[in-house]
Amino acid sequence: MGLADVEKWLHQCARCSSCKYLYKNYNPSCPSGERFWFETFWASGRVWIANAIRNGELKWSESIRKAIYACPLCGNCAVQCQQEVSDHLLDIMEALREEAVKVGCGPLEEHRIFAEWIQKEHNPYRESHNDRLSWLEEKKFPEEAEIYYFVGCTSSYRQKQIAKATYSLLKKINANFTVNPEEWCCTSPLLRTGQTELVESIAKHNIEIAKKMKAKKIIFSCAGCYRTFKEDYPKILKQDLGIEVLHVTEYLSNLLKDGAITITKEFPHTVTYHDPCHLGRHVGVYEAPRELLKAVPGLSFTELMRNRENAWCCGAGGGVKSGFKDWAVDIAKERVKEAEKTNAEYLVSSCPFCWRNLEDAIKTIHSGLKMVDIVEILNDII
Ligand code: SF4
Ligand code: SF4
Repeated sequence: MGLADVEKWLHQCARCSSCKYLYKNYNPSCPSGERFWFETFWASGRVWIANAIRNGELKWSESIRKAIYACPLCGNCAVQCQQEVSDHLLDIMEALREEAVKVGCGPLEEHRIFAEWIQKEHNPYRESHNDRLSWLEEKKFPEEAEIYYFVGCTSSYRQKQIAKATYSLLKKINANFTVNPEEWCCTSPLLRTGQTELVESIAKHNIEIAKKMKAKKIIFSCAGCYRTFKEDYPKILKQDLGIEVLHVTEYLSNLLKDGAITITKEFPHTVTYHDPCHLGRHVGVYEAPRELLKAVPGLSFTELMRNRENAWCCGAGGGVKSGFKDWAVDIAKERVKEAEKTNAEYLVSSCPFCWRNLEDAIKTIHSGLKMVDIVEILNDII
């Protein structure tokens, strides 16, 4: 996608500033604007940059590069904007990045390095592809199954406890599932930073192996991988995938509703829940994680002040965790402080990348909150 594909929306920003605050609530919505406090760092500014670049009124520069990459693509602006352009804000911001890469003004150096590693070792973490399933004790797993658990690079190489908990939980509930060592990066890091050259061939590979496994469902513990398969792959491959795509919380809450699983052990703690942007705002999955948490005996659930579509981003997405390391954690610090106000003992999420950045913030401010993924809780009590 380039600016030509979003051209008709580039004139639609009314500069009303609704995107900067939660609708009728007036708490801040945009981590980027709040940090840099200059028009070009809010969604509206980026729409106007895109318009001016397209018209030839603005030349690419280092300051433009910073403005377009200093955004976790959280999508909060798109929820708050009440104009027609709202549905296209993320597309415009991604198109701007893709255009920047085309003309050599993007991405940031850290993004270029992870793209090289995705090409070489199929992950952005500078790890060996052969170690992708090193978290798994079992060395033999079925080559075919009804469900393919797509682990994702962050759980495979960094937050391995989430991969282990998901695998263990699926075993406990007797799911007909398997994993695949030939899984490649889902391409979310490439798509979000405008580096789209390799995306189609990688998407084809990931879908081909799922079909070879005769999978009817692909399930994800990573919100970023899930969003990429669910929203991006059908557009990139120009076809319905022919396989059901579910976040693990959707899969489990369906089982819970059908009475196929029950939660009997107690988790006698107070928890609050952080909605990952890629699961909530980007795809609309808000209730499944809440249904699961509320079904846990003894668990006391309390909402964050900014929740569901109004959730404050964790700060890790859109290439911000790699490109603006300290700022990414600052965004998460604000979320952790908001969670502390609920008096919860546990901050729960359902994405390894949110887990990672929120945990970094918890450590930085020496918060007493405990970070946990929803599958880690469920694996302990099912
Ligand atoms: S992006 Fe939407 S909310 Fe923001 S200034 Fe433009 S029209 Fe208004
Ligand atoms: S995607 Fe998030 S950080 Fe980026 S402009 Fe919109 S609200 Fe701000």
